[in-house]
Amino acid sequence: MIDLLVTGAAVITMDPARRVLEGGQVAVDGGEIVAVGRDLGLEARKAIHAPHGVILPGLINGHTHIYQALIEGIGYDMHFDPWNWRFLFPLVSRMVPEDAEVSAELAALEMLRSGTTTVSDHWYMHTDLENIYRVTETLDRAGLRAQMVYGLLDRTFAGERSQSEFMTMIHPAETLLAEARRYVGAWHGKHRTTVALGPGSTEDISQDLMMKTVVLARELGLNVSTHAAGWIEINAYTLRHFGERDLEHLNTMGLTGPRGVFFHAVWLSDREIEMLAQTGSKVVHCPLANAYLGYGIAPLTRLLARGVPVGLGTDGAASYTYDLWEVGRAAAILQKASRLDGEAVTAEEVLTMLTIGGARALGLENQIGSIEPGKRADFIVMDFDQPHLLPGGRFAPKLVYSGRGSDVTHAVIDGQVVMEDRRVKTLDESRVMSRALEARRDLIARAGQETRDLLAAPWPTSGPAWRSLAGRKSTEAG
Ligand SMILES: [Zn+2]
Repeated sequence: MIDLLVTGAAVITMDPARRVLEGGQVAVDGGEIVAVGRDLGLEARKAIHAPHGVILPGLINGHTHIYQALIEGIGYDMHFDPWNWRFLFPLVSRMVPEDAEVSAELAALEMLRSGTTTVSDHWYMHTDLENIYRVTETLDRAGLRAQMVYGLLDRTFAGERSQSEFMTMIHPAETLLAEARRYVGAWHGKHRTTVALGPGSTEDISQDLMMKTVVLARELGLNVSTHAAGWIEINAYTLRHFGERDLEHLNTMGLTGPRGVFFHAVWLSDREIEMLAQTGSKVVHCPLANAYLGYGIAPLTRLLARGVPVGLGTDGAASYTYDLWEVGRAAAILQKASRLDGEAVTAEEVLTMLTIGGARALGLENQIGSIEPGKRADFIVMDFDQPHLLPGGRFAPKLVYSGRGSDVTHAVIDGQVVMEDRRVKTLDESRVMSRALEARRDLIARAGQETRDLLAAPWPTSGPAWRSLAGRKSTEAG
């Protein structure tokens, strides 16, 4: 008698042979996948029959900032600098642990409903050093698997206005190193959570803290995960200060290697792509957020051609979604369009990045990312009994080009049925929504005039709404 037996129309295993088993079953015991096949003849304490369901590994969101879940829809259609200084900081620099918890609940609900089973959250919003504990506890309670990236910023955030009143997430290097160590001790390897260390970017952190972070990560055997070459200005910044491009500088500082995880990786030279490939470094590609902010389109096809492990991420509020199906589709479509090549990225490559590729990027490929005996039981079921998912063709292109988060009916994480028939069992959905609404109102009430102006801006006669406020004095101190 095993714990769980799930039967579907097909199992997309994402195993090394990429087997697709029509009418397949997945057997789970003790949180682990114990068998995959047809007519396994096993008895289970719980059985799920999904005759129209396609079973595939749970999706892996390799990079996000969960604290931004509460604030979408306030400042929008902005470039990165005003997005940070006029929209983001005035709101989130006042974040308290309660806000952190509620944002994590809201994000967790959206992630579980849309098929994400593992998330890597880059948390640097240390306006209160307890924030990250509340977030981690919340994700744990929701049943998600997490790789929390402990953010370390001792200078500023995405720019040079280090004296701004908004830089409440900045702490001295020694505080951050001690706090990171405390957090690793509390959470690394506990339940389904692992921890990585995360400098914000080369702009945000002193050389001294960057070096000490690399040393600490080596001592503790952790990934170092950071934003790299995400926006064009950062290459100008690192060339001016260090005489190197951003990724070159990260390489000099010792961040490249099998434990180096680089978010965005847009503005790369051929030499830097080679550097990533030669060192065994990993990339998390965030095509929607990059496109939305006008950051550009990462050289995905060249990274894949060089064998760099690539996962996909939503990033924070700039993608306006936690639905990884949207992100996967954008990854393919943007490459096809920009390279004038309909074969640039395939549906199978997108499914790989969403599952086993994402696992490899986070260093979790021995545990998750495919449906194979011996791996932890993280998988989802997609309902193909719908007009936009008429079965009978090949599954991969329909999943990637037609699939949506709302097609996910079941989510199993570490053997636990976290969502069944579209009902999330680990969170009280209506309570999550009402708490989030309340927290957002409260956050806005505590924010300054800048935020109230953004919300009250009239429908624009031309251009983005925030531009109509451009002549008014900003409350930021810069
Ligand atoms: Zn990011």
